[in-house]
This record gives sequence, C-alpha cells and structure tokens, in this order.
Amino acid sequence: MAEVKNAVIIGAGPAGMAAAIYLQRAGLAPLVLEKDTPGGLLRNANLVENYPGFTRGIRGEELAARFVEQVESLGIEVKKESAKKVKLTGDIFKTETESAELASRAVIIASGTRPRAPRIPGVEGLQGKKVFSDIVSMHIPENKENHYLVLGGGDAAFDYALNLHGRGHRATIVSRSRPQCLPLLRERAAANGIAVREGILVEQVEETVQGVVMRCRAGPRRLRLYGDAVVVAYGRTPELGMLDRALLRRVKNIESPPATEVPGLYLAGDVARGRNRQTGIAVGDGIMAAMLLEQFVASRRRKG
Ligand SMILES: Cc1cc2nc3c(=O)[nH]c(=O)nc-3n(C[C@H](O)[C@H](O)[C@H](O)COP(=O)(O)OP(=O)(O)OC[C@H]3O[C@@H](n4cnc5c(N)ncnc54)[C@H](O)[C@@H]3O)c2cc1C
Repeated sequence: MAEVKNAVIIGAGPAGMAAAIYLQRAGLAPLVLEKDTPGGLLRNANLVENYPGFTRGIRGEELAARFVEQVESLGIEVKKESAKKVKLTGDIFKTETESAELASRAVIIASGTRPRAPRIPGVEGLQGKKVFSDIVSMHIPENKENHYLVLGGGDAAFDYALNLHGRGHRATIVSRSRPQCLPLLRERAAANGIAVREGILVEQVEETVQGVVMRCRAGPRRLRLYGDAVVVAYGRTPELGMLDRALLRRVKNIESPPATEVPGLYLAGDVARGRNRQTGIAVGDGIMAAMLLEQFVASRRRKG
C-alpha cells in the first residue's frame, strides 16, 4: 500500500503555508500542493499595512516571499502540482494530482478563491490576453506607460490602481456604483491623480489595434473608454472544484471554519471566509486547522 501521509495541504498561500509551518514543527511532515507560484493572492497586494509586525507596511510580494523562505528553511515538501480531486475512502483521504494519488489521514484545503468571469460581452475571448483578474499574471512593461482600466470599486480595485500607478502606469478605476473601499485608499488614489469613474455600466469590451475599448453607459449617456488592458477586481468565488461531490455537499455552509463536518478535513483562509478575506485571517485559520489536525491524528493513533 502507498505511504499514508499525516497531512496533505492544498494551496501554498498564507493559509496553507501557516498550516505547513505549524505541522512541520509538530513533526507531522505535511505535503503541500501548489499549482502555481507559492505566495497565493497576497503576491498582488501593493502595500499590506494591516498585518502586524510591519510598521510601515510591506509589499504583498515581499511578505509572501518571507513566508516561502520560512517554508523552505524548514524543509517542508512543496510539490508544484494541482490537486485535481479529493475524496474519502474509508477513513483515508485520496488526493489525485496530474502524476499521483496521495493518501493521507487528513487534508487542509487552503486553495483560496478563483475569479468569476464578469458577464460582459467580449470579455471571455480576451481573458489572459487583454483582460486579467490579477496583476501578477500580467506582463507589465517597464519602459512604456500603459493605461489600465480597473473594473470594480472595492479595496482590491484601488490597491491594483495604486500598484500600477506606482510602477509608472496610468490607471482609471471604473465602478458601477459608488466605490466602497477604505477611505484612505480613496484619498491616496486622489492624491496620485488616479481617475475614478463612478456609475459606469460596461456593456461590451472589444480589442483594438492598440489595446481595448469598453463600450459603456452612464445613465442615459453612452461613452467609450480606451486603455491598453483591463483588470477585473471583483467577483471571486471559493476554489472548491477539487472536492468530490460527496465531500462538497458536506462542507458547503460550514459553520465554524476551519473545522468541517468531515473529520480530518479542514478549510482555511479565503476559501472559507466569504467576504472577510485577509492575510491575518488566513494565517490564523491555517494555524488553527493545523492544531485541530494534530489533535485529530493523535486521537486516530490512540484508537489504533
Ligand atoms: C489586490 C489585493 C490586495 C490585498 N491586500 C491585502 C492587505 O492589504 N491586507 C491583507 O490582510 N490582505 C490583503 N489581500 C488579501 C490576501 O491576499 C488574501 O486574504 C490571502 O492571500 C488569502 O490567503 P489564502 O492562503 O487563503 O489564499 P490564496 O492567497 O488565494 O492562496 C491559495 C493558493 O492555493 C493555490 N491553489 C488553488 N487551487 C489549487 C489546487 N487545486 N491545487 C493546488 N494549489 C491550488 C493557489 O494557486 C494559491 O496559491 C489582498 C488581496 C488582493 C487581491
């Protein structure tokens, strides 16, 4: 029989890495699966000012790199693979990846969120080409000023716009309603001359020779907004696609994350926190999930 691991962790964002650090130090040798670059969504954050310990804030990319460094220094096993399916067979979890089926006593799902494509005609065909849902996956030129149209009115939209502005680009925030972000982000956007267009309904996005044009409506008025690319900063949904149907049914509407009603299965970080998506919460969830997992594995061992 294949080796049965104590813990498989899906996702190497803040939640998954915090869980892994705890479990490695507890002697449980977790295996972390990460389909992309370790660090997760945090790598997009312009300036994280609400994570304790960094008086002047820290760039998301740097904070993520510090988490990764700690994971590496502890010798934690991280595989660059996607978890395709997680199912429960008896009391053992089976996690399928592209290359293997991993058996474990417990699993922590720390897979964060995935973008939901906005229902705007034209967007679908331009995804990854002219329309992006984060900025780490974009090619941002260094020697030319681009103009980015940032869709949304929340903290993420303002954070992306400030990030792009800080790199020498022009950013316009395009929001359907009145932006609902931290007032200080709005003030910073204003201080940096970032335009905010409110009350704009985007009806179509089309590619042009130079970039994109958004056909919009502002009340009765029609207008066009031109840019080099679009960044969509709203509409993320929990990434639970790897759970098989039986498990998914049992983890929907979990009442007290990171525990679920499936013994040995935990959900940590953005995947379980609805609109309350913050690095500190993800880290706390990861540690809590790891502690519950440690107790779970110990009780299983006692029962033999
Ligand atoms: C623009 C922006 C600014 C932000 N600013 C702040 C801030 O100032 N302060 C703050 O506290 N928070 C901020 N956040 C939020 C913060 O980034 C998230 O709360 C945090 O990254 C959540 O961590 P997580 O580990 O739960 O999920 P994520 O960071 O999303 O990590 C999930 C990881 O799982 C991986 N994954 C998903 N599915 C699979 C699979 N099937 N197999 C293998 N791997 C998988 C993903 O590739 C990803 O690396 C910001 C976010 C954004 C977008």
